[in-house]
Amino acid sequence: MAPKSDNTFTVAVIAGGVAGLATALDVRDRARDSGLDVQVTVFEKDSEPGGNLQTIRQDGWQLEWGPNGFLDNEPATLRLVDRLELRDKLQRSSDATAHRFLLVNGRIQEIPITPKAFLKSSMMSTGAKLRMAGELFVPSRKDLGRAAEDPSTDETIEQFGARRLGQTFADIMLDPMVKGVFGGDSRRLSLAAAFPRMVELEKDYGGLFKAMIKLSRQKKKEGRNKTDAGPSGVLHSFTGGMATLIDAMVADLAADPLAEVRVNADVRKISPTEDGWRLVATDGDHGPFDAVVEAAPAHAAARHLGHLDPVFADNLAAIPFAPMAVIALGFKREAVTHDLNGFGMLVPTREKRELMGALWTSSIFGGRAPDSRVLLRCMAGGSANPGFMDQTDEEMTAVLLSEIRPLFGLKGAPDMVNVIKHERAIAQYVPGHLARLKELDRATTSYRGLFLTGSSYRGISVNACVKEAETIAENVLKGLAEKNGRARTEAF
Ligand SMILES: Cc1cc2nc3c(=O)[nH]c(=O)nc-3n(C[C@H](O)[C@H](O)[C@H](O)COP(=O)(O)OP(=O)(O)OC[C@H]3O[C@@H](n4cnc5c(N)ncnc54)[C@H](O)[C@@H]3O)c2cc1C
Repeated sequence: MAPKSDNTFTVAVIAGGVAGLATALDVRDRARDSGLDVQVTVFEKDSEPGGNLQTIRQDGWQLEWGPNGFLDNEPATLRLVDRLELRDKLQRSSDATAHRFLLVNGRIQEIPITPKAFLKSSMMSTGAKLRMAGELFVPSRKDLGRAAEDPSTDETIEQFGARRLGQTFADIMLDPMVKGVFGGDSRRLSLAAAFPRMVELEKDYGGLFKAMIKLSRQKKKEGRNKTDAGPSGVLHSFTGGMATLIDAMVADLAADPLAEVRVNADVRKISPTEDGWRLVATDGDHGPFDAVVEAAPAHAAARHLGHLDPVFADNLAAIPFAPMAVIALGFKREAVTHDLNGFGMLVPTREKRELMGALWTSSIFGGRAPDSRVLLRCMAGGSANPGFMDQTDEEMTAVLLSEIRPLFGLKGAPDMVNVIKHERAIAQYVPGHLARLKELDRATTSYRGLFLTGSSYRGISVNACVKEAETIAENVLKGLAEKNGRARTEAF
């Protein structure tokens, strides 16, 4: 990195996951646009940046360590893709992904997506279907949207589902969906924090069906057709896997004389001093910095910042993470009887299996398995079953194989097995999360030049991290521009 001149501002970004790297890139780009000289340094604990976004390539198989992809309904991620000139490497999921399945009463059943298919489906009893239809007449709660101010109004996802659509819907549909997205337990996650859109729909339209009816009328009126990417979007990755995004961000920063990504730099402590922020890391002491963006997971941030304020210590450490095992299994095509024509299958808790879900990865994206082979990605553990993680890799694989063998009609042993144990996979937004964020915001803003970001707080998806990176970078630059107008020795 170029030596710092007196007119150069310095920004430290802690952690080189997607959140940290996207923020570093955004700070750099906005600095260029505004004509400010800003040196950005990313401090990453591991020997490789990327956090959860790592792609493993072995013997013709291409496996993801963490996310399988991202939805194309978030403009911020697509903007990032364009800035990095990655459009030609973008990979759209196959049309087969429209077919999604649940294990219900021991059978793999397709989730009906049209009202006619839903009525014909044997997934739920007639009574449960009628209860669902009754959602139209369930009055909306009067205290919606107050979870940050009054945590006693913070409903769990399960409570919301049971209240509006019935207990069977909550058990068969919501419970596995929450496992699939968060590795979480619908009885222990806050609806307002995990799925804020649901709260908005109930608040603004009086209910989910009412919202669907009004929004589809609006769409018709505006002349949008069914093929428009809806709010749920289409899953995308890159031909080379999700690491493509990380590699491009790191290369872009490395090519910039005003930026640096330091690896093997485990940050231990972040402190404000008279001349700016200073860091203690395993590769030495660093600083002063005009601003620090803390993008490491909340449990790490608690260690870095806990000494400053009990609000940081308590609230950051209290954000739990779900452990998760991701076991990739490769088979010869002829060794799998099931056609695997779809996205994959999720498993409701009431089925009493260890398996949380299985993605049919080679049906989702091409190039994930060698010719005439198929790739399944099984997930187990999660916050509802952390004890699963206590087993050895061989034990976990044997348990999952014994569960999926009859379901998919598997013959013989897998050709390829890859076990990834995530001790802390995904942050869990438990009831009270929004009130906790409010406290954290209050503590953070009392320290000038300190910013918190990443999947621990306002969205666990890649999209949420990239979107928030833009907001954080904007605030960092605003602070630097203001500081530019004051004496340079003053705090941020
Ligand atoms: C199995 C799995 C499947 C997922 N599937 C999807 C999906 O399909 N789609 C989707 O959108 N999202 C998915 N997610 C979620 C998504 O991957 C994450 O939310 C996202 O990657 C989080 O990014 P992050 O930068 O906040 O954190 P991380 O990726 O966890 O990165 C944090 C970084 O902080 C570093 N760090 C920690 N402590 C320190 C320290 N003291 N000093 C310096 N650095 C430190 C770590 O080494 C790491 O690199 C999945 C997650 C998992 C685990």
